[in-house]
Amino acid sequence: MAVGIRAEDASSLGAFIDLSKEIGSDILKTQGAGGNTSFKQNGIMWVKASGTWLAHAGERDIMVPVTVAPLVAALRANDPRAEKSIDFVVTELNATGLRPSIETSFHAVLPQRIVAHYHCVNAIALSVLVDRDRLIAERMAKVPDLTWVTIPYRRPGTPLAHEIDRVAARRPDVLILYNHGIIVTGETVDDVRERITRVTDALAINDRPATTTNSRILELMAEGSEFHAASDAQSHKTALSPANVAAATGGSMYPDHVIFLGTEIGFLADGETAKSFADARRSANRSIPKMVLVPGHGVLLSNELTEGGRVMARCLAEVVSRIPERASLAYLTADQEFELTHWEAEQYRQALDRSSSKFA
Ligand SMILES: [Zn+2]
Repeated sequence: MAVGIRAEDASSLGAFIDLSKEIGSDILKTQGAGGNTSFKQNGIMWVKASGTWLAHAGERDIMVPVTVAPLVAALRANDPRAEKSIDFVVTELNATGLRPSIETSFHAVLPQRIVAHYHCVNAIALSVLVDRDRLIAERMAKVPDLTWVTIPYRRPGTPLAHEIDRVAARRPDVLILYNHGIIVTGETVDDVRERITRVTDALAINDRPATTTNSRILELMAEGSEFHAASDAQSHKTALSPANVAAATGGSMYPDHVIFLGTEIGFLADGETAKSFADARRSANRSIPKMVLVPGHGVLLSNELTEGGRVMARCLAEVVSRIPERASLAYLTADQEFELTHWEAEQYRQALDRSSSKFA
């Protein structure tokens, strides 16, 4: 990535990589390949490559250079090349040959030099509530010097970039993306880091206490099936409170959940095991969910799940345990789910996830 970077820019670029790694190493901000950061200089934007993990910034080359002005022009002209942004890659500087993030176009339309986007579980938990406008305004009143906007849900890629383009000229410091996450911007890495810390504090919600898992029961439930108990202890929270189960099974809340875990979460009724559940689904010719809750005991995950899917199980646990009991939720619609499950650019990201899982 250092190829083509002027010496005076190298230190701020190094600081940007450090910030990217910090964001990527906090499970409450980034889960797997979610989230992306960008750094603009001299008309070129370095942006995270599709399918790579921010957590690997600094140890692997995960940034791809794209030209900003032609990409923004293409987006505004509804040129389909803006969707994947691959035609705007500066090939001679792109040492890895990776594709830019599927969210590159919104980074390009924001004029600020540094843009950090991540799937903050607090921002998601607030932004899936029907009462989100009021609740988010209350939270953001704690950081009155920061300018902020909310963005209605749009599919990531050009639909979301168009929505962000409408407010980009106002140079908001913070953008809260409904049913998705957050963007924090600034002219320097230090400014962005400080804003992230303050906004994270302003949005923070304590997670609801849950009962403990019973690993013996989960093993019995999974016996003979294509499921196993989630290995990450915190991922079980989804099944460990009736309010969490209700929020998780009521619908899909954000894109990466649909992409990695699908549109349906199963749960075992009394007396049912994962094997009998899956057998019944197969004989009814119905698809088998990748995640099955054992209410009161824990979470079972499909053996087919990649690492990207496993961290999305953790994300769901963190989100639902921050949603107030009996709150009304603004779930994604069936049409919104459909456009996520039938999206070619996403299939590339999942293919990378499958190949990286082999040696992760
Ligand atoms: Zn995102």
